[in-house]
Amino acid sequence: METLGTISWTDAKCATGDARLLHLFFSEAENEIAEAKVICQTCPLQLPCLEQAIERGEPWGVWGGQLFDRGRVIDRKRGRGRPRKDEARPQVVEVA
Ligand code: SF4
Repeated sequence: METLGTISWTDAKCATGDARLLHLFFSEAENEIAEAKVICQTCPLQLPCLEQAIERGEPWGVWGGQLFDRGRVIDRKRGRGRPRKDEARPQVVEVA
């Protein structure tokens, strides 16, 4: 198991073995995605998690408190089906 200083990946807030958490981190629902992001905010591994997800080009899910879509960080998921004419497209977020 990789450690980062005194922190180990087993310290991750999502490493509980709870299947519901796995569902949250890969959900399509905005409220569940928001819930996953809140969990990340309390995780001691947030920064390395985000950096490694960017490096890997994560195809989807919440990693390091950010939502990924095809390797990019986006601000929100687009709903299912055809977008309404007045609906803005999800924006790619610049992560420093
Ligand atoms: S920051 Fe990464 S390791 Fe921590 S809870 Fe979020 S997804 Fe899990």
